[in-house]
Amino acid sequence: MAMSAPSSARPAPVRSRPRLRSFASAPPEHMADGVWLLRGGLLRTMNVYLVEEPDGRGVTVFDAGEKGMAGAIAAAAQSFGGITRVVLGHGDTDHRGSAPALRAYADVLCHPDAVAQAEGSGGRDYWQMDELPLDVRLLHGFSHRFVWDGGPVHVDETVSAGERIAGFEVVELPGHAPGLIGLWREHDRVALVSDCFYMNDMHGRPQPPAAPLDAYNLDTAEARRSIAKLAALRPAVVLPGHLGPLTGPDVVEQLEAAAT
Ligand SMILES: [Zn+2]
Repeated sequence: MAMSAPSSARPAPVRSRPRLRSFASAPPEHMADGVWLLRGGLLRTMNVYLVEEPDGRGVTVFDAGEKGMAGAIAAAAQSFGGITRVVLGHGDTDHRGSAPALRAYADVLCHPDAVAQAEGSGGRDYWQMDELPLDVRLLHGFSHRFVWDGGPVHVDETVSAGERIAGFEVVELPGHAPGLIGLWREHDRVALVSDCFYMNDMHGRPQPPAAPLDAYNLDTAEARRSIAKLAALRPAVVLPGHLGPLTGPDVVEQLEAAAT
């Protein structure tokens, strides 16, 4: 099905009530110097990161979670001086969810290879949903459409490997999705990696780091190579798109195991 490009017109600011915001997301949790995690969604598995700008003026939002989180993200960002930009780790429905609403405040950015999905089907045009068990397929189908996805979002700008965002360097980790990017900060070895790997299974239950589920991947072999590439950076704190964080003395070993 052909889709027309999403409108570049700015939406009105998000209107939300505090009680609804606390349904949509837990309060920000401190993950690393200047990095905060908003755990959203019913099961608190949808991760959105606020990364403080080095000049102290506002935060970059990394990944946009599900659409119901928009009010919680905007309110949390306000206490840091507001949103400077929204960077999508990739264009899947559950990562662009609140991005259309957050364009009221700031530009939306992603990798050039993620633009077609962010502005289009949100991953649906290559997912193999028929590989999933029926109960998961039905639940995910409903969630993608009615709970997670905020719909196509206009991408204002693109970012590629080596560019700097809020004191981090952009790294390319494709495979799960086209143009999947992470943010890497060498001095304290912190990585924000979107869905480079999963710490929850298809039912949302916690699991050790693993390659993303085949049914949702563009290219699983490439996804594994990206996990190996992440392991080779020897990160100390890894902040994924769902659950986490991954920390401790065996982070690299756990990533190497997930890559094989
Ligand atoms: Zn995801």
